[in-house]
Amino acid sequence: MTELGFEGSYLGANDKISRLAVMECKICWTTYDPQEGDDTRQILPGTAFVDLPDDWTCPGCSAPKAQFLVREDPGAASAAAMAEMERRTAALVADFTEVFNSKMRDMPMVNHALHVQAVDFRPHEGGFLGVLISPLSMNLVFLPPAGYPVLAPTRKETIAFPSGDYEFLHNSREQTGPYLACSLFSPMGDFGSQLQAVEIARVIMVELFKAENRAETDRAADIRTIREAELMPKQPAAEPEPTRRRVITGGLGG
Ligand code: FE
Repeated sequence: MTELGFEGSYLGANDKISRLAVMECKICWTTYDPQEGDDTRQILPGTAFVDLPDDWTCPGCSAPKAQFLVREDPGAASAAAMAEMERRTAALVADFTEVFNSKMRDMPMVNHALHVQAVDFRPHEGGFLGVLISPLSMNLVFLPPAGYPVLAPTRKETIAFPSGDYEFLHNSREQTGPYLACSLFSPMGDFGSQLQAVEIARVIMVELFKAENRAETDRAADIRTIREAELMPKQPAAEPEPTRRRVITGGLGG
């Protein structure tokens, strides 16, 4: 809950309050709670303060709407989190674009139909999670919250999701700061367009949270373990790995 206190009247600034804002008349302290509405004016429960008719007035003293103050706005915290998420994903995209332009542009594996893009980022475990597309790879990326136990670059950490457990590599970039990445596709030669890559990234963000994928990812992990044992004397890296992530990516794009 964010207590905005007495910073001044709302004065019709609809963009300053969320749809969840509980408002208070600064003259008689009558509150307007969107969960209750206002039965004296046939305003239904669930009506946001911003959606009240312009001629709505205080049920206590008839003061106009503009004389109301924010008493509390549970939506303001999520608005701040969204702004933070936007800032951090923009930093991530900027860092990867810069690295790509300076070091990787001429690499043979580059898919020039693609560009760096952050897809479907959302708040997750205090930080933000989404898919980062680049001309070289597609990764599930976790931007950790402040205070997260950050490991040295290239150290691994397993993170559990409803669909299974996934291995992330710790890393860090100048603007982004620390981040964790789980490789989904690399290289990106099978993708015909940015749009196709974005669609697949969106599907992955849905499948990742489906518990019914867990049995399959566990089986895939078993297969991987067996295969790795079989391949150990040879070159395990050369063999495509039936990993958990292959289940959520489901052969899409490849
Ligand atoms: Fe009033």
